[in-house]
Amino acid sequence: MKKKRHRMKWALAASLLLALLPGWGGGMPGATTVAVKAADDPATGKQVAIVIDDFGNNMGGTELILGLPIPLTAAVMPFMPTTERDAEMAHKAGHDVIVHMPMEPLRGKRSWLGPGAVMTDQTDEQIRDTVGKAIDSVPHAIGMNNHMGSKATSDPRVMRIVLEVCKERGLFFFDSRTNYRSVIGQIGAELGVPVVENHIFLDDIASQAHVKKQLRKIVAHLSGEERCVAIGHVGITGKNTGEALRDSIPELQKQFTFVKLATFLPNVQ
Ligand SMILES: [Zn+2]
Repeated sequence: MKKKRHRMKWALAASLLLALLPGWGGGMPGATTVAVKAADDPATGKQVAIVIDDFGNNMGGTELILGLPIPLTAAVMPFMPTTERDAEMAHKAGHDVIVHMPMEPLRGKRSWLGPGAVMTDQTDEQIRDTVGKAIDSVPHAIGMNNHMGSKATSDPRVMRIVLEVCKERGLFFFDSRTNYRSVIGQIGAELGVPVVENHIFLDDIASQAHVKKQLRKIVAHLSGEERCVAIGHVGITGKNTGEALRDSIPELQKQFTFVKLATFLPNVQ
């Protein structure tokens, strides 16, 4: 079991990013212990929600990122070795927790998905059961997003069941928009499940310079918009993403307010 978990951890990490970290060295030590800034304490009216994916397997950067002095939304995988610990840690730190639901991709190994994935060959009842159990396994979950899922998120039968369960359990859905054929927005609207969409990927390339470049893209996005959502990851790039964020927070807070994703839901807060 231990061996299997170990393999899974590495397979998951490898599925996120293939590149290794360059030696970026340095960084600013000792700037991480500021209290979380309240969402209603804006430097401007502009708001940014950062979602961090892939918690639940003691991945790289977990504690660093959960300790950042901004409100975050932590997407925690179900049924993993540190699912409960990471969800509790995020909740205690004042972050929101959502279920990072493994879903069948078009390509990639089954092992990258982790346990309890939604597969398109499952029956309606199996999908319903899988999603319900995943929600039960992640404490404090108020929403859901997909881990992988390029195949499942374009399947209307599958997504209708996933979103029905979200509705029954009072969860919103966050569409990472990794799949342009995603039916999440359309079916979510039909069922009345709030759906929030992603705008920017922070760490699709594993370097601090890239993360900082993507953070500047948030500022550019806000020149014409009031809100922005960006995704980062724990894992191979976790430390990288955490340190780039940590170093950039003071400057970014002069330009917008960090909020939790739920702030962007209709009729919430
Ligand atoms: Zn993921």
